[in-house]
Amino acid sequence: MADDLDPDDGDRYRHAAAEPDEGREELSQDTIWAWATPPGRSALAVLRISGPAVGNVLHALGVRVLPAPRRASLARLVDPADGQPIDQAIVLRFPAPASFTGEDLVEIQHHGGLGVRRMLANVLAHMPSLRPAEAGEFTRRAFLAGKLGLSEVAGLGDLVDATTARAARHALLRLEGEVSRQVEAWSDQLLGLRAEIEADLDFAADQADVTAGALGRAGPRLELLRDQLRKAVQSAGAATRLREGFVVAVTGRPNVGKSSLVNLLAGREVAIVTERPGTTRDPIEVELDLNGLPVTLIDTAGLRETDDPIEQEGIRRAREKAAGADLVIELVDARDMPPAVVDCPNHLIVVNKADLVPDRWAMLAISCRTGTGIDELLAAIAARLDKDLPAELGAVPADARGQAAVSQALEAVEQALAALPLAEPVLVAEELRAAALALARLTGLGGDPEDVLSAIFARFCIGK
Ligand code: GDP
Repeated sequence: MADDLDPDDGDRYRHAAAEPDEGREELSQDTIWAWATPPGRSALAVLRISGPAVGNVLHALGVRVLPAPRRASLARLVDPADGQPIDQAIVLRFPAPASFTGEDLVEIQHHGGLGVRRMLANVLAHMPSLRPAEAGEFTRRAFLAGKLGLSEVAGLGDLVDATTARAARHALLRLEGEVSRQVEAWSDQLLGLRAEIEADLDFAADQADVTAGALGRAGPRLELLRDQLRKAVQSAGAATRLREGFVVAVTGRPNVGKSSLVNLLAGREVAIVTERPGTTRDPIEVELDLNGLPVTLIDTAGLRETDDPIEQEGIRRAREKAAGADLVIELVDARDMPPAVVDCPNHLIVVNKADLVPDRWAMLAISCRTGTGIDELLAAIAARLDKDLPAELGAVPADARGQAAVSQALEAVEQALAALPLAEPVLVAEELRAAALALARLTGLGGDPEDVLSAIFARFCIGK
C-alpha cells in the first residue's frame, strides 16, 4: 500500500541487487511467529509475527483498529477465548513490502514474564494458518523476498553472535551491504571488460585487431582488479579471526603457573566474556575482550586425560584449537634460568612468579600471586594480535564460503592475465566469465543450491 510508505520510511534492509527472481523458491503462505528475545523471565520480550494473517492476529488479540505503520502504539491485549486481559503491550506494525521479511510483520513488545508468554503462545497456537517459526526463518524470508543478499545474511548472523565491539562493527559493515557493493563494482568491471573483448571479437577483421585493441587495453584494468581481489583474499584471515576469535595458548613446564594465570584472568571481571571449565574447579578456556578483539585463552595444563566423556570432548576441541593458536604465551618460572629469548612473531615469553625473584626483568614479568604485570601482559597480547589486523578491515567476507568465492575470482582473473600475451581473446573472455560467476555465488544471485542456504541459516536462532 503506497500510503503506508513514509518518506522517512527507511526500508533499510532492502538490498539493491537482490530483487526476487525466478530462481528463488515460492514464498510460503504460512504466517510464522517466534520470540526474538531469549526465553525466560525478562522485563520485556519481543514477539515477532510475519505473514498474511498478521492483521487477524492483532484483531484476535483485541486490537480493533490497526496501528499506524511503523509507529509505536500502546495496546491492551486480550484472550479471544474469554476476553480476559493478557498484557499491556507496544505494537509495531510493518506492512508489506517495507518490512524486514517483505511480508506484513508485527512486533509486539510485552512484559516478559512466563505467564504472559504462555497466554500469548496459547492464543497463537489456536489460530488457523499460523505456526511457530523455524530457526532463521524470518531471515530466510527476508532473503527470499530480496531484502537481504547472502553476504548481508552472513553479516547479520555474525552481528548477533559478535562478542566484542570490533567483531560487531565488522559484521554490521557486512549487514549494511559493503561486501555486496564491492562485489558489484568488481562484477561491473568484469562485465565491461568482457563486453569490450567480445565486441571486438565480433567486429574485428582478424584476431590481431582484437589483440591490439580490447586485449591491449584490458591489461592495466585487469591488474588493478587482481590487486584489489588479492588484497581481499589477504584480509580474509583477519576477518575470520574477528568473527571466530583469536586463540592464545598458555604453555610452559608443569607448575610454572599456567592454570593460575588462566584462573586469575577468569576471576577478573573486566575482560571476561565466558569461561569453560575443564575440571569442576578450573576453566581451561576463558574468552576475553581485549580492546575489542575476541580472544580465547587456553590453559594447556588443563588439557589432561579424563574419563568424563563430556569433558573429553571439550578437551579434544581445546587441544585442536591450541594447536592452531595465533599466539603462544610461554610461561617461565622466575627461579629458572630464562631460556634464550628468541623473537618469534607468534610466541611471547613471559616470566611468572616474579614475586619470588625481585629482579628488574628486561622481559615481560608477571606474578599471578600479587597480580603484578597482568595489565601489561594483556596489553602485550592485544598489541601482538592487533598487528595482524589491518586498521581498516573493509568489505571482506568473513565466512569460508564467501572467502572461497573471492579466491576463485582471483584465480580466474590471474588466468585471464596469463592468457593476455597468448593473444587468445576467447580464452580471456572465458576466464572473465568464470570470475564473474564466482562473485555472483558470493552475493547469492548466482542461483545457489538449497544446501548453501541451509548451511547459512542453520546457525540462526529462533526468532531471527
Ligand atoms: P601449572 O601446572 O603450570 O598450571 O601451574 P599452577 O598454576 O598449577 O601453579 C603451580 C604452583 O605455583 C601453585 O602452587 C601456584 O600457587 C604457584 N604459583 C603460580 N603463580 C605464582 C606466582 O606468581 N608466584 C608464586 N609465588 N607462586 C605462584
